[in-house]
Amino acid sequence: MYNRSYNFSAGPATMPVPVLEEIRDEILNYRGAGMGVMEMSHRSKVYQQIIDEAEQDLRDLMGIPDNYRVLFIQGGATLQFAMIPMNLMKNGKAVYVETGAWSKKAISEAKKYGEVIVAASSKDKNYSYIPDCSDLDIPEDADYVYICENETIHGTTWNKLPDTKGKILVSDQSSMFLSKPCNVADYGLIYAGVQKNVGPAGMVVVIIREDLIREDLDPKTPVYMSYKTHNDAGSMYNTPNCWAIYVCGKVFKYLKNLGGLEKMQEINEDKAKVMYDFLDQSAMFKGTVEKESRSLMNIPFVTGDAELDAKVVAYTKAAGFENLKGHKSVGGLRASTYNAMPKEGVEALVDCLKKFEEENK
Ligand SMILES: *Cc1c(COP(=O)(O)O)cnc(C)c1O
Repeated sequence: MYNRSYNFSAGPATMPVPVLEEIRDEILNYRGAGMGVMEMSHRSKVYQQIIDEAEQDLRDLMGIPDNYRVLFIQGGATLQFAMIPMNLMKNGKAVYVETGAWSKKAISEAKKYGEVIVAASSKDKNYSYIPDCSDLDIPEDADYVYICENETIHGTTWNKLPDTKGKILVSDQSSMFLSKPCNVADYGLIYAGVQKNVGPAGMVVVIIREDLIREDLDPKTPVYMSYKTHNDAGSMYNTPNCWAIYVCGKVFKYLKNLGGLEKMQEINEDKAKVMYDFLDQSAMFKGTVEKESRSLMNIPFVTGDAELDAKVVAYTKAAGFENLKGHKSVGGLRASTYNAMPKEGVEALVDCLKKFEEENK
């Protein structure tokens, strides 16, 4: 009805149409406030209700325990690469698992703040699997264990969390946030840049166990980089990303109405299966990730011939499928099948790829 393409972008990414329609209807005058959300003071009563409701809906959706705080922070997921060690490295030491591009970035940033122990890595096979982390070598004085729970570029996901041997687990959930149920109590800190699977760019949601919020940081820590700042001010120490919070709030409600994260997982598994089943039987295309570590959200695949890959990307684009070019570190193609991508979109893509395969035998 709106002549929209099937958008397989890894982020910013496709969003649910009913949410976009609601936003459209409220953009000039939010529920009789006489102005839109982009124009209103973050200190207004109307806005306070928007942020409070967004937090509550997220708490309901994920079943976030009372001893965890929810923070809305700017700077994207990237700022967290520094903020995490700045706030959580008490002993100056942390364990990281290297599974791809995004954990690598987090590792190099953390090294500025303390000792980083890379306890496991899947670099030997171009990050095509999640290493066995059931018996990691974790020093007694390590402050935390860090993982990227879904590697957006390499297309891997953790189906079993690492044994942290009692240390707190820190997880980058950016490209899988709200894609399935999550037991928050398993973690010390979860964070997610929202532009992958939830809303517009420019914000990160941080879910942190209350007792990990410290006061005794290096005095040179910028005020914005302290979790305590954001916690004490209800995520409004300075002007927050009002727009992103508002839109994410709508997506949280949308997911609740859909039936919650169990339902979302069912839909996502069903959808990803369409793509993986196709890849597994195709003579031309193949997935780049080992079966046990395949992501439900980001599906990289190749033909094995870079020139042919480029031809496929052009072919799909001409047929109305956008953003299928793979990241340069993996090559080939990548279909991001986030929450808001309908199953019909994946089915139509598979039909298109089948047609290409038939025509180019
Ligand atoms: C996109 C992404 C990031 C970086 O997000 P920004 O908001 O652009 O800083 C970090 N981690 C993962 C897993 C991502 O997919």
